[in-house]
Amino acid sequence: MDTLIPTRIELARPLPPLTYLAPAGLQPGMRVEVRLRSGRTLGVVLGPDPAPPAVKLRPVDKVLDPFPLLPPRLWDLLDFAGRYYGCGLAHLLPLCLPQAVVADWETPLASGQRLCDLRDAGDWAGLAQAGAAWGAGTLDLPTLFHRRGLRGAGVTEVRRTPAPHPPRVTPSQAKVLLALEGAGGAMLEAELLDACAVGPGVLANLVKQGVVERVKRLDLMSQRREEGPDRTVVLNEEQRRAVGAVDLDGFSATLLYGITGSGKTEVYLELAGRVLARGRRVLWLVPEIGLTPRLLARLEARFPGKVAVGHAGLNATEKQADVLRLLQDEAPLFVGVRNAVLAPLKDIGLIIVDEEQEGSYKSEEHPRINARDLAVKRAHLEGCPVVLGSATPSLESWHAAHAGRYRLLRLTERPAGVTLPTVKVVDLRECYKEERRKVVFSPVLLKGMREALALGQQAMLLLNRRGFENFWMCRACGKTFDCPHCALSLTYHKGAYRLRCHLCGYETAPPEVCIHCGAEHLRGVGEGTEQIEDQLRELFPGARILRLDRDTTTRRGSLEAGLLAAEAGEVDILVGTQMLAKGHTFPKLTLVGILNADMGLKIPDFRAAERTFQLLTQVAGRAGRAELSGRVLLQTYSPDHPAIVHAVAQNFEGFAAEELPYREALGYPPYAAMSLYRSEGDSPREAREPLRKLRIRLETVPGLRILGPLESPIAKVKDRYRMQLILKSASRGPLGEAMRAAPLEPGGPVTLDRDPLNFGV
Ligand code: ADP
Ligand code: ZN
Repeated sequence: MDTLIPTRIELARPLPPLTYLAPAGLQPGMRVEVRLRSGRTLGVVLGPDPAPPAVKLRPVDKVLDPFPLLPPRLWDLLDFAGRYYGCGLAHLLPLCLPQAVVADWETPLASGQRLCDLRDAGDWAGLAQAGAAWGAGTLDLPTLFHRRGLRGAGVTEVRRTPAPHPPRVTPSQAKVLLALEGAGGAMLEAELLDACAVGPGVLANLVKQGVVERVKRLDLMSQRREEGPDRTVVLNEEQRRAVGAVDLDGFSATLLYGITGSGKTEVYLELAGRVLARGRRVLWLVPEIGLTPRLLARLEARFPGKVAVGHAGLNATEKQADVLRLLQDEAPLFVGVRNAVLAPLKDIGLIIVDEEQEGSYKSEEHPRINARDLAVKRAHLEGCPVVLGSATPSLESWHAAHAGRYRLLRLTERPAGVTLPTVKVVDLRECYKEERRKVVFSPVLLKGMREALALGQQAMLLLNRRGFENFWMCRACGKTFDCPHCALSLTYHKGAYRLRCHLCGYETAPPEVCIHCGAEHLRGVGEGTEQIEDQLRELFPGARILRLDRDTTTRRGSLEAGLLAAEAGEVDILVGTQMLAKGHTFPKLTLVGILNADMGLKIPDFRAAERTFQLLTQVAGRAGRAELSGRVLLQTYSPDHPAIVHAVAQNFEGFAAEELPYREALGYPPYAAMSLYRSEGDSPREAREPLRKLRIRLETVPGLRILGPLESPIAKVKDRYRMQLILKSASRGPLGEAMRAAPLEPGGPVTLDRDPLNFGV
């Protein structure tokens, strides 16, 4: 019988950890079942309790795992994240494990079966069964590509499994096994059958015995053909220097700064290759999987069979399959979005964060983690390098690089085939003066579009507002039509003939007369993408026009399908919101029109200029990846705003140099750290009260500036009033102190957002 020792257990309940008696030798991260007064619950072992309470301790009922589900260093990361973001394990674990384990995370792993045990025992049939019990199929890139309607045919590879050689085989089977052995364990199915002159039945038998497996792979040859005859890239001097500058033997943080197309991905690939060659693993974070089919193709071509994909957009089964492969140690390179930073990957040798400035790395729901920041922390814990890459780095990372916390590497050369587009400002104030009315398409933009279409080229128009008209107002009484549940005006959608709330989804038929005063003088204000599309159809009757925004891309895969159609030249004019800014190169795109560049500058957020600069630069970059040289027309009412001026010059460093002193003077990040406490209630008073109390407790903490409680920028959503309390401090210390001085009740009315990126929601 095992010795029982006092052990701290974190419970899947909003309670602090409790001490139970558990067998000695349990490792942190193993799940146990324990009893509470209120019933049974699941717990996770934290470690021995050196100072157990002097009461009679209960034993744990059951130990569910013979090994921790999470590698020990990930455990340390979760521990850090829990303390930093103020959330319990019960909230973090669902982010790192397959849904089936945690959705009902009280269920033991596939009724007591352990994937690793099965694997060690060579019990492949059992493994498949366990996988099935988790609701996991196998997902590989060809399937993924196929499902998403992307090009790239799958081929089947046959691989020898680690199962022992069967005692009796037929001569044909022996031939196959011998051929595989000679080829290092794997061959393409077609070649193998050919070489051994056997039929598929022979193979099927071997698969049944578990000694070989068939694995779908991307067809590398056709992939290469698609990408051009010569895909062996010889790194240029700068890229080589960048690769050489990243020390693979310990922790370091590097900011790789280079415009789109400067070859950052080739640097990541080279580094990843070196790390994989050392037998270690690579964690590769991207802001959005759906928009990176090209990256996935490049990865699979470079590291065939080694890539697993973590997915937010795919359904749970598909997502689990790859996490399963991780748990089974089968995929040394894991690509994924935000939560992938917590993937149960062991022995990490490199972490890459591509497009590190992207807001999607920050979660907008509890727990509000920032994957980019956690990536740096994880690299630190793993003792490996982390590379953050961007063409327009976040000012936080840029500042860190200048303060010496990150190393700054630049790529300034542009490999052949990538040109900088010429960017021209169109002053909408001048247009207004000349035409004496509001201008949506300036004459120079119209002329440019006509020319592009006449030459069989493509144009792209960006307007960051969907719907037909932004809001309706009554000319007689001046009132607008607002959502009855939110502090926001309704947007008119002409096709659906609806007024819709973009926050809560409320919709109603557009009224004939003003709901406030009965007058008939209703007017729509502020055009959206739907209206732009309408106007384009009138202006260019023969053109093939495609609109891409949230309204036209609700179906899964429809955005990618649209972008692919545009890429294949099946679209003449592409119009849409910021969705257009990312991924994808359009070989025939020569004209980009930004209809209202300063729309984002009006948002009351200290990052408004930074976001506008990033968006404009990204969109402009779309025009620079064509075979033909591109042109960007940037329409604006504020041509002198720094975000616009530097976007026109495509000068990130100039923008940063102008914006940073401003942030410093006003005490905003990166010169200060912030926490945002939110609360909501059925009345403004109810929302304010808990924050008022919180403020009183926080006033004793030194080094804090407290603002609020004040109304959130959107003061009401779905009939709930929202308030916030903002904490600023010169460093992070006092913010952590604040969490200790006034701990939040789990499930209570107040929630915490550390390093907030979005103040509106
Ligand atoms: P980024 O990640 O910075 O946008 P990529 O690494 O994707 O840039 O490079 C852009 C294009 O240039 C890709 O097609 C890539 O294969 C090519 N490329 C990058 N580096 C080189 C090089 N040294 N020689 C030739 N082509 C290169
Ligand atoms: Zn609403």
